[in-house]
This record gives sequence, C-alpha cells and structure tokens, in this order.
Amino acid sequence: MLTGAATARYGVLGWPVGHSRSPAMMRAAGLERYQRLPVAPEVFAETVRALGAAGFRGANVTIPHKEAALAVATTSSDAAREIGAANTLTFGPGGAIAAENTDAPGLLAALGRTPRSALVLGAGGSARAVVWALSRAGTDVAIWNRTRSRSEGLGARVVDRAVGAEVLVNCTSVGLDGSPTPFKDLPLDADTLREYATVVDLVYRTGKTALIAEAEQRGIPTVDGLEILVSQGALSFTLWTGLAAPLDTMRTAARGRPPERGQCSPNPSR
Ligand code: NAP
Repeated sequence: MLTGAATARYGVLGWPVGHSRSPAMMRAAGLERYQRLPVAPEVFAETVRALGAAGFRGANVTIPHKEAALAVATTSSDAAREIGAANTLTFGPGGAIAAENTDAPGLLAALGRTPRSALVLGAGGSARAVVWALSRAGTDVAIWNRTRSRSEGLGARVVDRAVGAEVLVNCTSVGLDGSPTPFKDLPLDADTLREYATVVDLVYRTGKTALIAEAEQRGIPTVDGLEILVSQGALSFTLWTGLAAPLDTMRTAARGRPPERGQCSPNPSR
C-alpha cells in the first residue's frame, strides 16, 4: 500500500542529473512525485537542509555529491560512515537527515552471491563502496587504479596489473563515453576477460558498454550498471516505504526509453 509514500516528494540530487534513469524507475515503482534535483555543489548543503520542510521524504544522491551528502546528514549508518559516502538520504521531523549507502549492498544483491575473489578496477567513490561490501562479505579483494596511490588504504590488496579472480568489477568511468574499446585505459585485453567467471560493469549508458559487450561475446556472465542501479534503488525504495520493491517493474522502467533529446547527457551514471 503506497498511499502515503506516493504523495510524499522524492528526488535524485546530482550535478548534472538530466541523464538519470532513477526518476523513471522510482515513478514506475509508485513514488509518483520523484523528480530530478539538479543542485550545484556550492548550494548543496543549504538545498538539502531545506528539502524536508518542502515535503521531501527521501533523496538519492549521485555524482558529485555523495561525500557531501554524508557530511550534511544528522545521522548516518555504519556503512555510509565506513565508506565515506552516502547515496540515500531520508528526511525526518525537525530537520533530521539520515544517510545510508545502498550502493554497497546493491552490488551484492545484483551479483546474487558472495564471490571468493574479486578484482576491482578504480578507486573512486563507487570502488570504495564495492570494496567495502565485498570485503565485509568475506571476498578476497584486489584493487587496481590508474592512480595507484588512491587505491591504497581502502581495505583491498593493491595490484599493478590485472590478476585473475572469480569476479571482475569495473568501477572506473571507462566506457561512459561509448568508446568501442575499453581496454586502452584498463590493465586488460579482451581475451584476459576469460580469467573471470563474471564481469560486472558499474558504468551504464544507452546500449551496452564495450566491456559488457566483449564479455558477452565470449560467453562470460555479466552484470551491467543498470542492474546495479535497480538493486541500489530497490533498497532505497524499501528504506523509505517499508515495502518490498517491485523489481521487475523498476528494471523495465530503468531499461526503457532514455530521456527526450536535449535532456540526455553523454555521461549517464545513475
Ligand atoms: P569517481 O569517484 O569519479 O572515480 C572515477 C574512477 O575512474 C577513478 O578510479 C579514476 O581513476 C577512474 N578513471 C577515470 N578515467 C579513467 C581512464 N581514462 N582510465 C582509467 N581509469 C579512469 O566515480 P565513481 O563515483 O566511482 O563512478 C565510477 C563509474 O561508476 C561512473 O561511470 C558512474 O556513473 C558509475 N556508477 C554507476 C552506479 C550504478 O548504479 N550503476 C553507481 C555508482 C557509480 P583515477 O583515480 O586515476 O582518476
């Protein structure tokens, strides 16, 4: 029963955010007043503090605001604090803002299992959440990043080249621009993808990313960025409504027609 939740206001905070698939996905799930909230970094904190009084019950948060979202919150989960970033805010009475990170459990939910080992590519905000989730679940995690120093101290074994593992997780933004080959910027080539039982790409765009397409061509099971978007969004939905999320409905909406021309950024993320 979504009566109260449907009338409350929700949104996705980002800069830019015109590309986001979250409004289509969350409206399809029943949050009819879910909207894009394009907010520049310099006015992020003051805007977020005003949302509760303006009738908002919750907001998802995307690039570049995930660290600022944690900072502006009045309470936060262990996951958000330990990762150092929040992607879900819940507004309560008296200006209360609770921060959560559903990116981390969303990855595990999309994967559907806890792998024995993983190679994570990247050391930005999403890589931190992925390393945190996998390590906590008991996976042996190796991490590679173009800028090696950024991958140190994240709780994973730092490597200078791709090492074999059960799961490969791309948390770099490589592939976002639609380049037909992702491999010039990553420590892999198409054939070494066979060293992984599953290939996960957090990046999503209209059409498949090249990494997902190359893995599929070799018959390797994949999890794409839209599936991860759905998983983390489903967890936010449940946090706000107390209800199980309509996963199939959300998946269909997230994979549906992209925003109208003029609203679509070349850099889709959430
Ligand atoms: P971020 O904090 O900006 O980190 C970007 C990462 O990509 C860094 O590790 C950076 O390496 C690396 N990188 C960028 N360009 C590169 C290149 N040409 N070659 C090699 N490495 C490169 O971004 P993020 O928040 O982690 O997000 C990463 C991607 O995941 C984005 O595309 C985002 O849209 C996507 N994402 C998807 C979901 C979802 O729900 N599907 C959720 C979160 C994020 P350096 O440290 O060397 O700069």
